[in-house]
Amino acid sequence: MGSTIPYGRQTISAADIAAVVDVLQSDFLTQGPVVPAFEDAVAACCGARHAVAVNSATSALHIACKALGVGPGDRVWTSPLTFVASANAALYCGADVDFVDVDPRSYNMCPERLAEKLEDAAASATLPKVIIPVHLAGQSCDMAAIHAAASRYGVRIIEDASHAIGGSYRDQPVGNCRFSDIAVFSFHPVKIITTGEGGMALTNDDTLAELMRLDRSHGITRDPELLTEADAAPWYYEQQRLGFNYRLTDVAAALGLSQLSALHGFIARRRQIASAYDAALSTLPVTTPWQHPDAQSSWHLYVVRIDPRRTSRTHREVFAALRAAGIGVNLHYIPVYLQPYYRALGFAPGLCPAAEAYYGEAISLPMFAGLTDAQQAEVIAGLAGALAE
Ligand SMILES: *Cc1c(COP(=O)(O)O)cnc(C)c1O
Repeated sequence: MGSTIPYGRQTISAADIAAVVDVLQSDFLTQGPVVPAFEDAVAACCGARHAVAVNSATSALHIACKALGVGPGDRVWTSPLTFVASANAALYCGADVDFVDVDPRSYNMCPERLAEKLEDAAASATLPKVIIPVHLAGQSCDMAAIHAAASRYGVRIIEDASHAIGGSYRDQPVGNCRFSDIAVFSFHPVKIITTGEGGMALTNDDTLAELMRLDRSHGITRDPELLTEADAAPWYYEQQRLGFNYRLTDVAAALGLSQLSALHGFIARRRQIASAYDAALSTLPVTTPWQHPDAQSSWHLYVVRIDPRRTSRTHREVFAALRAAGIGVNLHYIPVYLQPYYRALGFAPGLCPAAEAYYGEAISLPMFAGLTDAQQAEVIAGLAGALAE
């Protein structure tokens, strides 16, 4: 047996390396021409009007909330099955967070639970300003249903599409914001394409794009059209908002632009791996990923659930046996509100039963474009061995 097979990892080509070296030898390591080129390419690829590159998806979620006016006294709802950043972004703005339970088949925010919770909130005047559905594992949420429920109450939508670049919904690319105000991607190395650290916020709304561009760089602008001062001197710039330094570098953007050209190949390979898992695992006591008929996943993750009715092996035993066999399985995610920080805010077990049931059974198997057939066979054999009675 070789070294551990990770659950996810980047694929870096010679072209990626050359693109980065080109920037290192150029005049601009940051704030040069490559960031806007990367933004234009992602916007075109996804069918959105604007794309704002930043140094992480966490930063993108933060400035997206800010652009939608989230502040103290506001509420933001997200999915419990996500990385903590989706919820933390709202707390950064001083808002309160709550969670909508997931659909027991897709593990994405459940449109029916959302509609019920919105109806209750409307009755008690506690509606959220924004909801953040998360496309878990790369499979789009049922955005038409979520949008229909939210728009009845004027609730805005940020898609946390950190897993989902290259995926589609109703045959259109995720990120086109047809059913949302803003969509956010992550370019962390385990995600579909990478810039090292990096993220992007996409929108079709000119004003939201302008606010996010301001907030990623200190709230400062030099754009003559935005300045309050007429007849500005050549050195003049204005700070108009309390922004941040969330800029992406040109070095990172060069990697991202080069990676983007490999996106379709990455997705094709991930789909192939997913189909091979589906076929090979069909006889094991696990539930393989269910796919909504409207969603074509990017397959960031391949999550199986140990079926306790069909095996006496516990979730924890199977997980530990896989790790011991050098298979770097993971669990995405611990329901966010079970984290100590969120418990201290008053959250308790029982809030989202479908998410908690998932948490008791889910295991993310290795899934990345560079996974070889031999490695996948090792994972499949390892899982079968871990489940053997
Ligand atoms: C990775 C991830 C984030 C955070 O992304 P960064 O780019 O690391 O900040 C947010 N939400 C989800 C669902 C993620 O998977």
